[in-house]
Amino acid sequence: MTSLLVTNIGELVTWDDDRPVIRDAALVVEHGQVTWIGDRTAAPDADSVHDVGGAAVIPGFVDSHTHLVFAGDRAAEFEARMSGRPYEAGGIRTTVAATRAATDEQLAANVARHLALMRAQGTTTVEIKSGYGLTVRDEARSLAIARQATEETTFLGAHVVPDPSTGSGTEAEVGAYVELVIGAMLEACAPYARWIDVFCEEGAFGADEARTVLEAGMAAGLQARVHANQLGPGPGVQVAASVGAAAADHCTYLDDADVAALADSGVVAGLLPGVEFSTRSPYPDARRLIDAGVTVALATDCNPGSSYTSSMPFCIALAVREMGMTPLEALWSATRGGAFSLRRDDLGHLAVGAKADLVVLDAPSHVHLAYRPGVPLATVLAI
Ligand SMILES: [Zn+2]
Repeated sequence: MTSLLVTNIGELVTWDDDRPVIRDAALVVEHGQVTWIGDRTAAPDADSVHDVGGAAVIPGFVDSHTHLVFAGDRAAEFEARMSGRPYEAGGIRTTVAATRAATDEQLAANVARHLALMRAQGTTTVEIKSGYGLTVRDEARSLAIARQATEETTFLGAHVVPDPSTGSGTEAEVGAYVELVIGAMLEACAPYARWIDVFCEEGAFGADEARTVLEAGMAAGLQARVHANQLGPGPGVQVAASVGAAAADHCTYLDDADVAALADSGVVAGLLPGVEFSTRSPYPDARRLIDAGVTVALATDCNPGSSYTSSMPFCIALAVREMGMTPLEALWSATRGGAFSLRRDDLGHLAVGAKADLVVLDAPSHVHLAYRPGVPLATVLAI
């Protein structure tokens, strides 16, 4: 088979400049690429035909922020948080201990299990970070495992300071750990990573440390992305803009200068509403960002601590219900926005030339993704 006509599409979301959404549409795929889009009645012949019976077809979701290389879970921590009870445990460090104790096979099996769940919900591209190893060996093997699953791998050695003597670590401990991250750890991890990331937050890494980590990664050929302004106001967004990062993710606590910096620099604001859902926290204000001209991506942040969801449709529903996005804006951010966050022009859209990552909805329009939250509507079309 060399060409496939997908036809009888009730609503085709292409994000093509001229026809971003086409009703009663068809599309042709050749060698994994979209080669034609348009009205059903004008479709060319193809070697085979697939009739979707009036369903909507959208680009596969691009999940631009996940932490899938981990072992164990933190259900007890979540239960305590939802029950209003204090919970004395190590947070991220609980997952670090479980991850270090797991075999490569266990970690790879966990990644594969989550990827299968993601694909079953319409996700066709996933970014995966390290960050639960925090030793040279454990960060490098985390990234080697992630690299088996995706090209979009991110070195997040600067997640937290491991094993601090108190709290988030003394100044000397933080300094020594940053030296390790930008030295031996970066050297071991760079071959398996496309991106470098840092958790720039009070209690993690400050502006100077974040810039040091990102610049070292960029000097090693990686591109920058930042965990920024999640738990409170801070310098993360400004650091991201100053180094030319692709994305500043979280963006929950922003002042006007932060919003302006995102708009002026073109840094993509990655919003991760599964976190606010799972920690019962205020949601980021997507409306404010979009109205200011900021490019917004939606992602799951799938991780066992603060957002243990792998569902992009769930994040779309939250974005629409809680963050002021229209259903079409939320879908754009979950597809094209994610692709921009990963600096990928071939993903997240279905214009001619794009990768043919097609998702068929068991519904006549994309609106149903937010309108029917929790309902498994999305299926990746096997081509
Ligand atoms: Zn994250």
